[in-house]
Amino acid sequence: PVQVIDAASPFKLEQIDLQGFDPVSLAAEEMRHAVEINETLFDLAAGPLIRGRILKVGLTEHVLLLSMHHIISDGWSMSLFVGEIARLYEALRAGAPNPLSQLAIQYADYAAWQRRDGSDVFEAHLNWWRDHLADAPSLIELPTDHPRPAIQSYRGGSIPVSFGSDLSRRIQQLANDHGASLFMTLFTGWSVLLSRLSGQEEVVIGTSVANRPRRELEALIGFFVNTLALKADLSGNPTVGEAIERTRQMVLDAFARESTPFEQVVEAVNPERTLSFSPLFQVMFVLQNTPQADIELPELILQPAVSTGVNAKFDLTLTLNATDDGIFGTLDYAADIYDPQTLARWMGYFEALLEGMTSNIDARIGEIPILGLDERNQIVLGFNDGRKEYPVEALIHELFEDQVRRTPEAIALSAENMAMTYGELNRRANRLAYYLREVGVWANDPVAIALDRGVDQVVAILGVLKAGGGYVPIDPDYPEDRQAYMLEDAAPRVVITAHAPASLLAIGRRIVDLEKDADHLWECPGENLPRADQSSSNLAYIIYTSGSTGKPKGVMVEHRNVTRLFDATRNDFQFSPQDVWTMFHSFAFDFSVWEIWGALLYGGKLVMVPYTVSRSPDVFYELLCREGVTVLNQTPAAFRQLIAAQSKTPHRLRTIVFGGEALEFNTLKPWIDRNGAPTPRLINMYGITEITVHASYCPLTSEDIETGHSSVIGRSLSDLTAYILDPYGEPVPVGVAGELYIGGAGVVRGYLNRPELNAERFIPDPFSGIKGARLYKTGDVARWRADGQIEYLGRNDDQVKIRGFRVEL
Ligand code: AMP
Ligand code: MG
Repeated sequence: PVQVIDAASPFKLEQIDLQGFDPVSLAAEEMRHAVEINETLFDLAAGPLIRGRILKVGLTEHVLLLSMHHIISDGWSMSLFVGEIARLYEALRAGAPNPLSQLAIQYADYAAWQRRDGSDVFEAHLNWWRDHLADAPSLIELPTDHPRPAIQSYRGGSIPVSFGSDLSRRIQQLANDHGASLFMTLFTGWSVLLSRLSGQEEVVIGTSVANRPRRELEALIGFFVNTLALKADLSGNPTVGEAIERTRQMVLDAFARESTPFEQVVEAVNPERTLSFSPLFQVMFVLQNTPQADIELPELILQPAVSTGVNAKFDLTLTLNATDDGIFGTLDYAADIYDPQTLARWMGYFEALLEGMTSNIDARIGEIPILGLDERNQIVLGFNDGRKEYPVEALIHELFEDQVRRTPEAIALSAENMAMTYGELNRRANRLAYYLREVGVWANDPVAIALDRGVDQVVAILGVLKAGGGYVPIDPDYPEDRQAYMLEDAAPRVVITAHAPASLLAIGRRIVDLEKDADHLWECPGENLPRADQSSSNLAYIIYTSGSTGKPKGVMVEHRNVTRLFDATRNDFQFSPQDVWTMFHSFAFDFSVWEIWGALLYGGKLVMVPYTVSRSPDVFYELLCREGVTVLNQTPAAFRQLIAAQSKTPHRLRTIVFGGEALEFNTLKPWIDRNGAPTPRLINMYGITEITVHASYCPLTSEDIETGHSSVIGRSLSDLTAYILDPYGEPVPVGVAGELYIGGAGVVRGYLNRPELNAERFIPDPFSGIKGARLYKTGDVARWRADGQIEYLGRNDDQVKIRGFRVEL
């Protein structure tokens, strides 16, 4: 391209008389003109690129509206422009000559010079930028109030920001102490805040530079401003001093290359381009050195007037001014994704962070508290309030025996072609328990159960509990070496089985064979056993879950962990003798604990689901209908298939509980479409074997499902507490991702034979104030919603779920 300098085009300032309007209509009229001036497009080919209007709003009061295309102007130019108008006004009013001196050079000279300067330097600078931004995250993952739309609307809002004069002074002092500029110091603080809120160690922040590297350029009106994408590296949790030093180096390097046009940098780095967010950075920081003040002239005061509102060019733009009265400014935000209250909260964190930074330069940036006391209390106490404690004296099988006394003739178990009453189930379990006592089973002894799915599994579980042992479910479908490993690790005193199979079971263990020993079992008493020296802190079961060492680990769960689970969920579910449950899950998966006792402690009926049926959704759906199942428990993966298998046959479901893995709410839409919203109730329960089956409760509304991109898991059960902590054990603010910790009466005894892992995952609870209380460190990543519900985000390790089974890869 070749530069052609056109003749000056005439500029007409339209004059409009608005006198005589009442104040309200006047404001509206002003706004209408401002919007019109502001939103009419410029024609770059024909010009003019500036337009203006002057509104006479009173006898001595005018509003001057001006709009320029950015290609001929920038922020610096605007101050020059206003300053020149002021000086011209003053001179002309006094009849003096034009006071403005001749410009040394013109914009055209600058443009010519910029082209000549080309090649080598330009290339070197561009390469620096390319390296600087090469591995930077393309999106800053700050928590948003609303999901980011596919196309930004640029609707914006703005909140004021101010730091008191004391803090402002200390920030300046901090800068001085480090030989850093105020910009570098505030930039460091802002980057630390963004890093803390996003969990990202590197954040890219844009800033604009006047880009007038020569004195002769300072008096020119024109487009000089450039945008720099500055990457803050906060990896390794540096001290405040180190972080400022890193910023200082980076900013010096970047500013030495401030003239490389931003659009060229974008082209060179070539990040993912999208209409959803701006490239390279989405957050901006500007420290203004030219604060806009009123200008007083003889008999005239100029002041900034109407604003047509904020256009959000970026997600967030923090603009600060340093004045003698302190540091203040504005935070502009994209209204598509942020609410002002959230950002006001963040500015509180910013202030706390700057307080922390200025009071201790050796503090590590990740460890400076940012939550105010009120907010911390709200999260730690408020979100966990109303915690209850339930009596824990009872043993699981005693609660069952109570139910047997109430409904001995009711059906407890049903399987293909057979049904068993509560009375009969109890008698069988008692006989087995007597037998187990005979062969030496006593309190806390592990007893393996290696039985296929069916009624006998439940008889055996009850028998073991009644004898005082803790059962170790060995699913015969598991690979043999896994079975062998579990038997070796748990070292059960007895193995209960049928058809006394595999040699591996035999080695050194006492076998109780329900078939071969049937005659002897029949001779054992059918009455309840007296409670010997059993207590509710005795072992109830050991369930193995995958371990990161390649070896599964046994989770030891006590009676009291289980009995309180049903107290803690009683009001929410109202289970009753009318309920029909399925035993759908393997007894080696703790969802089965919920299924068995959810039915049998309330007088309900438990329908045994054969393995093949559990794996064929069509057949299972028909079984649900035929048996009149009312309470269904499913992993989301299994339920997705069931939705597809639903036939015209009517079901009687009243409650569906999801657990075991993350539930994607929108996958439930087809179910809602067919079955309606409130009935059956849909409940998402987040659960962990180490917390005893379920840890949270979250009834879903149809709105959740309609709008739900996220996976809300609700609140912790009424006798549990939940904390979301950062890597240093401090609670994170609402909306910020952290690791979920659960405390309370569901926390189990621990892992069998794994003292180190126990110390790592079951940690002292610093929040409850109860001596000896522990928290389980879940490895799950979650965040608080403002209403105190927890949103599940994923894992902080490589654990995956396969049909609800946990696998540490
Ligand atoms: P398990 O002890 O085998 O039940 O596995 C517990 C893990 O399953 C948790 O730590 C979560 O990662 C995952 N999980 C269980 N229930 C849910 C749920 N409702 N939403 C999301 N993740 C879940
Ligand atoms: Mg679970």
